[in-house]
Amino acid sequence: MTATEVSTEVSTKKSTTTFDSLNPITGDVVGTHPIHTEDEVRAAVERAREAAAWWSALSYDERDIHLSTWKGVITRRLAQLAHVMHEETGKPHGDAMLEAALAIDHLAWAAGHAGKVLKRRKVPSGLLMANQAATVEYPPLGVVGVIGPWNYPVFTPMGSIAYALAAGNAVVFKPSEYTPGVGEWLARTFQESVGHPVFQVVTGLGETGAALCRAGVDKVAFTGSTATGKRVMAACAETLTPVVIEAGGKDALIVDQDADIEAAADATLWGACSNAGQTCAGVERVYVHERVYDEFLASLTEKARGLRADGGAGSQLGPITMPKQIDVIRDHIQDALDKGGRAVVGGIDAVGERFVQPTILVDVPEDSAAVQEETFGPTITVARVGTMEEAIARTNGTRYGLGSTVFSKARGMEIAGKIRSGMTAVNGVITFAAIPSLPFGGVGDSGFGRIHGPDGLKEFTYAKAIARQRFKPLLALTTFARTEKADQQLASMIAMLHGRGTTIPKG
Ligand code: NDP
Repeated sequence: MTATEVSTEVSTKKSTTTFDSLNPITGDVVGTHPIHTEDEVRAAVERAREAAAWWSALSYDERDIHLSTWKGVITRRLAQLAHVMHEETGKPHGDAMLEAALAIDHLAWAAGHAGKVLKRRKVPSGLLMANQAATVEYPPLGVVGVIGPWNYPVFTPMGSIAYALAAGNAVVFKPSEYTPGVGEWLARTFQESVGHPVFQVVTGLGETGAALCRAGVDKVAFTGSTATGKRVMAACAETLTPVVIEAGGKDALIVDQDADIEAAADATLWGACSNAGQTCAGVERVYVHERVYDEFLASLTEKARGLRADGGAGSQLGPITMPKQIDVIRDHIQDALDKGGRAVVGGIDAVGERFVQPTILVDVPEDSAAVQEETFGPTITVARVGTMEEAIARTNGTRYGLGSTVFSKARGMEIAGKIRSGMTAVNGVITFAAIPSLPFGGVGDSGFGRIHGPDGLKEFTYAKAIARQRFKPLLALTTFARTEKADQQLASMIAMLHGRGTTIPKG
């Protein structure tokens, strides 16, 4: 990425600099985009606030119609969008189509379900407050700032954008500096479909993202690395702006002794290497029951040897999009080898200038960077375990907790329930991300808050409670005119309702 000075005039009003987005396969310039200044970001948020007044006043059905129009435009131009994604990230065209198709499905779900999840509903008011009608509803927050990564430049930010819009918010989106063209494409098609600045894009480098955190938005939805997530949170803390943090992961896949080994090996390879391993919920570690370890490793290595990353038209693996990630991948492999690990496929020579070939590491000590830190490349560590309890303990042994996978016929659900991660796929891989009604997000260093599903809609709202008096209370409690009799009646009623308790068994 290069920042080009196009004017020497210092101005805080309008961007005077631009940056280029590059094709990671060829290094060619794909597009040139403005570095939006702090003032411009603030102006975008102000425009969004005006648009939010119109948007939030629409009914859920009316918003659904607008979002469906946008969805139709994206769907009809899917190949065009996939082309921009391919150019900016290098990912194979088919993978880009799949990613965008899943995002469209989420957009449809969010628009279609927002009313059902968020509209006013009655809740029980309880015996003490039987004279009250209690309702809860989820109004939009106002303007949501979305900061996105480059690895899934459509699917990932749309997990926030679609849900925030469907909930009635306006959105200002700062895409990664590696994928500004994708962000602009999304905003342009929205503008064509809806015609109000309800969804805008600001482009630039990290400072533009930081400016968005300080621009008076009502919430920031951040997806990116844990380190940047901490900076975003610190900036948002200054104004008590709430945040959703969707950060990195170090997801494990567990293979039990009764698992379908072929299916587990296939899922491991795809989970680890698709998108050249640049997947937040990608498989980076595998723990295999000792009874099936050799069979699993043989199947996995055979499959991996048939996979090659290059820039060719039919290639299933693209380049490493962000050049500096190459050093991280090399360091993790080197560290694993230095500590006694072995590469059964790939290795240090698998790391090229732009491409990394699939690499399978075994006998890697558990405290190595390759096991503990996010590698974000097509590399996996495979370890032998004696029991599923050991597999679970090692799976839970990192600071991250985003996704996880279990292959087991008998114990899939049991093992899934014991893993400390926001999501688990059983006998499949990353399947949870494609089910719009399931929440997506992590724990620990993988962040907090949820996108997708009902939780993802509520994330961009606040809970509004209303208690409406239907008739005068039998017991007047919230008044200085409260009588002694009322106090006694309250005491008897509470004793009746809650005084029995539970008997603690002796011994
Ligand atoms: P980064 O953390 O480098 O960047 C994420 C976004 O934050 C970019 O738009 C970036 O802008 C912006 N940014 C950078 N500095 C600041 C700042 N100080 N204030 C505000 N915004 C800032 O992540 P990557 O783009 O490299 O994405 C890869 C990471 O994202 C991986 O760790 C991956 O696991 C994670 N991820 C998590 C997902 C999840 O749902 N949990 C999904 C997908 C990815 P710029 O690019 O211009 O620097």
